[in-house]
Amino acid sequence: MQLPSLPASLWRDTASSPELHPPALTGDETCDIAVVGGGYTGLHAALAFADLGLNVVLLEAGSPGQGASGRNGGVVSAKFRRSFGDLAKSHGLDVARRMHAIANGSVDHLLATLERFDLKDAGFRQVGALKCAHSSRAYHHASEEAAWLRDILGETNLKTLGRDAVAEETGTKGFVGGVLQENAGTIQPLSYLMGLWRALSVLGVPVFAETPVTDIRDTGTGVRIRTQAGEVHARKALLATNAFQVSGKAGQRIARGLVPFRSAIIATEKLPPDLYRKLLKHERSYTETRRMMRWFRKSDGRILFGGRGALGHVEAPAAFDRLEKAMRAIFPSLDGMKVEYRWSGQVALSFDGLPIAGLVTDRIGYAGGFNGAGVAMSGFVGDQIARRMTDQPHDLSLIARASVPSMPLYQLRALMVRGAACGLELMDSAGL
Ligand SMILES: Cc1cc2nc3c(=O)[nH]c(=O)nc-3n(C[C@H](O)[C@H](O)[C@H](O)COP(=O)(O)OP(=O)(O)OC[C@H]3O[C@@H](n4cnc5c(N)ncnc54)[C@H](O)[C@@H]3O)c2cc1C
Repeated sequence: MQLPSLPASLWRDTASSPELHPPALTGDETCDIAVVGGGYTGLHAALAFADLGLNVVLLEAGSPGQGASGRNGGVVSAKFRRSFGDLAKSHGLDVARRMHAIANGSVDHLLATLERFDLKDAGFRQVGALKCAHSSRAYHHASEEAAWLRDILGETNLKTLGRDAVAEETGTKGFVGGVLQENAGTIQPLSYLMGLWRALSVLGVPVFAETPVTDIRDTGTGVRIRTQAGEVHARKALLATNAFQVSGKAGQRIARGLVPFRSAIIATEKLPPDLYRKLLKHERSYTETRRMMRWFRKSDGRILFGGRGALGHVEAPAAFDRLEKAMRAIFPSLDGMKVEYRWSGQVALSFDGLPIAGLVTDRIGYAGGFNGAGVAMSGFVGDQIARRMTDQPHDLSLIARASVPSMPLYQLRALMVRGAACGLELMDSAGL
């Protein structure tokens, strides 16, 4: 029996099939396209390249599920970190409309993929996502935003709920009201990821795990990718490593456009059936309107609660304790129930709150920066960047970048993020 190579999480223990152990690269390979990174972005891109009849090779540093795609909350939503109203102000209404269509399109893309590869075991349920307002001011703002989306962008999936309806559905009196997005849903994120790995294998795409890329270089006629065990020579390559930096000039340039940020999740023990039924009755995903957003959902007879993790490179017990305290404050009825799972992972933040995708050299593409909202979006962007790199029709709107956005004083990014996170939390606790 092979020992689990993924860190412990509820998803690892409830995945629909055992862990996958694809082979590691053991020699040199030649291909049309090499995809580096086996999360949703890389897998969807590899599927798109394979559909175009190209000879693709996928290289993943760890086991399938090692990155954010195997550890996330499984909340499937049609959104960016930036609001569409904000995008309309900064880029005009037409661009906001296009981005809104892309956000909804990302959920449609996920649904089409599940259908195409018959991934029923990913457990997707289109149960909706409820944004819960933590103050009257936040409720007013969320309701106005929903009205604007309906009236101006023609959004048909939103419903505003009052205090009683939210209390009845969530089983807590902690919220003033909420806005329901009906086309959102929940998924078992690791089962979904493993389904995509299996789909690539079925299509005959060579997939290699435990194969960290140590250098990637545009040679002027192709791309040379180094790993400890061999080199891959490709006509083109896509870097889909999200919050993880790959060595070499191309990797460094992409890293300058993204800031790694730890996101954490806790899950309770299995709840007694009565309590389980009373809380989060419709089994949707739920977010709070706080600036430093927290979210919750149910799965496997448990409540899952997520939010920011430790402000550093490694997990810290204090971050999980803070999440637990917040969960117990919102759901006093969980008193006496133990927390059985704690895990975290890295998300990649971009400087403008939107994903980034483009070419870092003539032959090396990149896509990442989903700002913690990439379950649906990363697959869509992976698919579209593959089309962009092969001159197929595509639409990435503001996500497409002419060059990798780079932050001034980027060396200080960890400090700045820490400062910004603390500032947002202070404003939240002061009720501003
Ligand atoms: C705790 C947590 C909760 C989240 N919750 C949600 C949620 O509920 N809803 C939502 O929409 N989004 C959520 N997200 C974000 C979402 O998971 C990500 O946006 C999405 O998975 C990004 O996919 P990706 O393929 O770009 O990155 P990843 O899944 O991180 O994949 C990148 C891959 O690249 C590999 N890699 C790195 N370096 C190398 C190298 N040198 N060589 C080869 N391979 C390499 C990594 O091992 C990794 O597998 C959450 C993220 C976390 C961490």
